[in-house]
Amino acid sequence: MSHARPNAPEYDADDILEGIRDWVFIESPTDFPEGVNRVMDLAEREMVSLGAAIEREPGGEGYADLLTARVPGASEGPGILVLGHLDTVHTVGTLARELPFRREGDRVYGPGIYDMKGGMYSACYALKQVLRAGNTPKLPVTFMFVPNEEVGSPTTRGRIEAEAKRHHYVLVPEPAKEGRLVTGRHAIARFRIRVRGRPSHAGSTLARGRSAIREMAEQIVAIEGMTDHEAGVTLSVGIVHGGTFVNVVPIDCEAEVLAVLPTPEDIERIGAAMMALEPINPDVAVAVEAGPLRPVFSPHAGVMDLYARAEAIAREIGFSPGHGSFGGGSDGNFTGALGLATLDGLGPCGDGAHTHDEHVLYSSLVPRARLLAGLLETLEAPEARA
Ligand SMILES: [Zn+2]
Repeated sequence: MSHARPNAPEYDADDILEGIRDWVFIESPTDFPEGVNRVMDLAEREMVSLGAAIEREPGGEGYADLLTARVPGASEGPGILVLGHLDTVHTVGTLARELPFRREGDRVYGPGIYDMKGGMYSACYALKQVLRAGNTPKLPVTFMFVPNEEVGSPTTRGRIEAEAKRHHYVLVPEPAKEGRLVTGRHAIARFRIRVRGRPSHAGSTLARGRSAIREMAEQIVAIEGMTDHEAGVTLSVGIVHGGTFVNVVPIDCEAEVLAVLPTPEDIERIGAAMMALEPINPDVAVAVEAGPLRPVFSPHAGVMDLYARAEAIAREIGFSPGHGSFGGGSDGNFTGALGLATLDGLGPCGDGAHTHDEHVLYSSLVPRARLLAGLLETLEAPEARA
């Protein structure tokens, strides 16, 4: 372990936090590609300083760029993919208003600090420390920075999967879940619902009209009613748009649904129910479109071997993270579902992802960076271990 060597560099939580802060200070909601690209610029600069070969390609469909950075290892061939995203769910202005960057005791707040700029920066820092100590990762290391994970990676899934297949391991520095590493994730399905009503003047001839908003309201109750918390099946409507003027019967309403589905059977059953939604009120039309799907990532043998390595490294550092399967999706769903050895949740500890309470724990920055460094430095090809 590099940290045990006398010439090993110090891991400094303030150093890590300074780097994270620079990334958090650039607001980068998925639908603001200028912002996402500016964070990509910082990540690119960081990787160039580590001697990485850079590939930057358009994300497509108006999304920001996809950034890939390659660092050679001591051997050639398939290596380690560090996979994460730099987009966030926080709109521009959140940093100035609801969620300013600040430290309160052990908590450090900021938009995207936990999900997952903190994790991606920590992984860069970890590789920097490995190289600074004069060591070389045993395997080649590739970093992939995704611009649109928060909307389901619609244009990047193919490229993520193609890249991942060229690697032995996939490390995903998404937020740790209550300190635990993530060895499995439920499927995430997205749907868009469009309701078409019948026009009328809302003041003078209301009875002639059919409100798309009213229909949608009833649909939402029915859709969310399919939730079964005990089974881990949840459906929620996160976006609704409808109506034009208050004196006009709304003829259009659109909603977006996120479904968390623990098993392939749930995907089938809920998918079929969603696609078969029928109008509840007369004279309206309801159309359903399925969006990007994240498949079930289950903890297969390759995942558990990789987790065992991580657990051993963490014990040497002085902590025991534990692991579990969780509902929130990530790009790790794609690689885990392909059967690749994927370990997720390697980012800092914290809480409040996707809320104005989003924070990381300062005390977790160094241990997590050391764990990432330990993995980057010591992972070797599966056959070499046998
Ligand atoms: Zn994330």
